[in-house]
Amino acid sequence: MKKRFTRLFGNNMTKRRLSDAVMNLSLPHALLFTGPSGSGKHTLATEIAAAANCLMASDSALPYPCGKCVNCKRIYDGNFPDISFLGKDSGKATIGVEELRDFRENMFLSASESQYKFYVIENADLMTSAAQNALLKVLEEPPKNVHIILLAESVDKLLSTIKSRTQYVQMELFEYDELLSSVTELSSTAEALNVTDPERLKAILLASGGVIGKALEMLGDGPTEEIQGKRDLVMSFIQALPKKTPFSKLYAACMALPTKRDELRDVLEEIRIAIRDLIVVKLATDTPMAFFLTESVAEEISSGMNQKRLITVYDIVTSAIEDLDKNVVVATLLTDMAVRIKHT
Ligand SMILES: [Zn+2]
Repeated sequence: MKKRFTRLFGNNMTKRRLSDAVMNLSLPHALLFTGPSGSGKHTLATEIAAAANCLMASDSALPYPCGKCVNCKRIYDGNFPDISFLGKDSGKATIGVEELRDFRENMFLSASESQYKFYVIENADLMTSAAQNALLKVLEEPPKNVHIILLAESVDKLLSTIKSRTQYVQMELFEYDELLSSVTELSSTAEALNVTDPERLKAILLASGGVIGKALEMLGDGPTEEIQGKRDLVMSFIQALPKKTPFSKLYAACMALPTKRDELRDVLEEIRIAIRDLIVVKLATDTPMAFFLTESVAEEISSGMNQKRLITVYDIVTSAIEDLDKNVVVATLLTDMAVRIKHT
């Protein structure tokens, strides 16, 4: 069978379903792709646009889209009139109603070269409610041949009316083995590390949480120190968790966590993954480790704590992550977390 959407790794079911839809001219008018940054949402949108416009689509010897014809090349270069993006690299905190209205107007006004016109809203979760309401009307009755694709890290901030009018695609996260084989194929750094320092490669891949774009970014020069720094913070926190740890040590481990909200959220998520490993290892299931490099390290650390304590700490960390979204002062949040763990 023809290879499809070759620029997107994994996600085979989605690739089959959406490439069939483009081929059969049955692509939904409104799509919503969700997944973390680096999970391939933008690549998928681009592959759909390229497939719809590929001049070599009927050549069964070539992948679909071919990636080589003039249309494919223009789309990959961001130089094709029938695919427009909103919210890309704008650096703004929200997408407002004015921007949305202009974007919507273009859907009705601009002439098209092809039978499909694509309007992609990046970071659609940054749309204000007013902007989302302005989008609703056009989602209900889009102009002929217009396809609207929303890309979002999560659907939490989208109105239910938006969600109900779009076809939802959740980007796949990679299993460890699949991630390993994909990154070693894509990145020479990964290929080399796999031979010279497989433990370090494993640490990077685990830290990516199965997001291929994140793994590749981490494999670039530089950020690996950052990863190690983050792992060290998680480890000192985890090591301060046993009940016998003096409060001063636990408090210090909490206060050593980053004070910037985004960074703190990242580290707390990582801590949650590590605690889950510790719980899993106690249950002696075959679930693979997601933070610790080997089960024996996790076993050793978890031996100092019972399962009930681990689950309570997991809940405390979870509620700290939720409080971060409620604008609680970071220092208060960290102190509170230390006190609550001490009382467990
Ligand atoms: Zn092509």
